[in-house]
Amino acid sequence: MKSALKNLLRPHYRELQGYVSAGMEVEKTDDLIFMNANENPHELPGLAGYNRYPKPQPPELLTAYARLYGVAPQHVVATRGADEAIVTLVKLFCEPARNEQKGEAIMINPPTFGMYGVDARAMPAQVIEVPLLREGSTFCLDTDAIIAAADQAKLIFICSPNNPTGTSFSHDEIAAICDAVAGKAAVVLDETYAEFAAQDSMAERLEALPNLIILRTLSKSYALAGMRMGCLLSGDTAFVSLVKSKALDAYPLPLESINAALLAIAQKDVAMSNIETLIAERKRLEVALENNNLVKTIFESDANFLLVEMNRAAEFVKFCASQNLILRDFSTKPETQNCIRISISTATENDKVLALLEAF
Ligand SMILES: *Cc1c(COP(=O)(O)O)cnc(C)c1O
Repeated sequence: MKSALKNLLRPHYRELQGYVSAGMEVEKTDDLIFMNANENPHELPGLAGYNRYPKPQPPELLTAYARLYGVAPQHVVATRGADEAIVTLVKLFCEPARNEQKGEAIMINPPTFGMYGVDARAMPAQVIEVPLLREGSTFCLDTDAIIAAADQAKLIFICSPNNPTGTSFSHDEIAAICDAVAGKAAVVLDETYAEFAAQDSMAERLEALPNLIILRTLSKSYALAGMRMGCLLSGDTAFVSLVKSKALDAYPLPLESINAALLAIAQKDVAMSNIETLIAERKRLEVALENNNLVKTIFESDANFLLVEMNRAAEFVKFCASQNLILRDFSTKPETQNCIRISISTATENDKVLALLEAF
């Protein structure tokens, strides 16, 4: 089968023989005795079942993610959070710098999530920055500049809604970028905050856009950050199989995390109602913050946080910390001068931010 993404991989990944784990060789049924994986038959009290290795990609989990995100199960790679998907993609696509040779590059649109750049520099791969364009209280993608610089990049990371700005970008614009860079780069759309946004996921366009890869996670929207469960979605099934067999650890997902993810997804209605509550709180906080004269700009957010441009930003973050409330200071970064990021919490905790701003 033709695979657009496989052609963009570091060449040795096409030939590489992946690890074949003991668990992959036989279908597990109750009547079989397993003496093939050096597992210990003596379970400790309270830890039943944990003596066995978990399935590397549990079919029931792939099916649950597929239903949740509106794709086919063969379009899903389950990962340890979106973070593992990011580092895996950089490893798969970007040839590192060696001796005199420069490494291959990723592209990012700052201000954006920091892990893309960190994972690339760790290869070391290069990081091409095409900053977002600020337009009053929002930002937009510099689409022409992204396309112009795409010759040098293997992966183009677009985060929508974007962390830390909260901005959603148009799916038509992202699709146009995918088309324009086809054959040269893959577009990685990080939809970590998609559940909080007015616009839907872009997953329905996965099959039409073979160089589009989408990242999802249960960490934020399903309140499951501690379990480290996320996934990568691609319409390119050959690529999906390759990631599973050649790029991930043999047993990446802890059993407890798999079970927690299934339980979380089964409670989608509760999670969605909690998201409604958070969005209502975000709107309430926005209105309340606007009335404060230290606040200069509240950026339009489609996520569960607000980026706020204000006078004495760093000082305010320190003041809050002294009162046991921790905010994120973005004021030292060039693209977010005088900005802080507030993660939306319960009404009581959000009120504490407002009270501290009054007291400051
Ligand atoms: C929090 C966050 C992640 C990390 O998600 P995990 O699934 O917890 O690894 C990825 N991308 C963005 C934009 C985030 O804000």
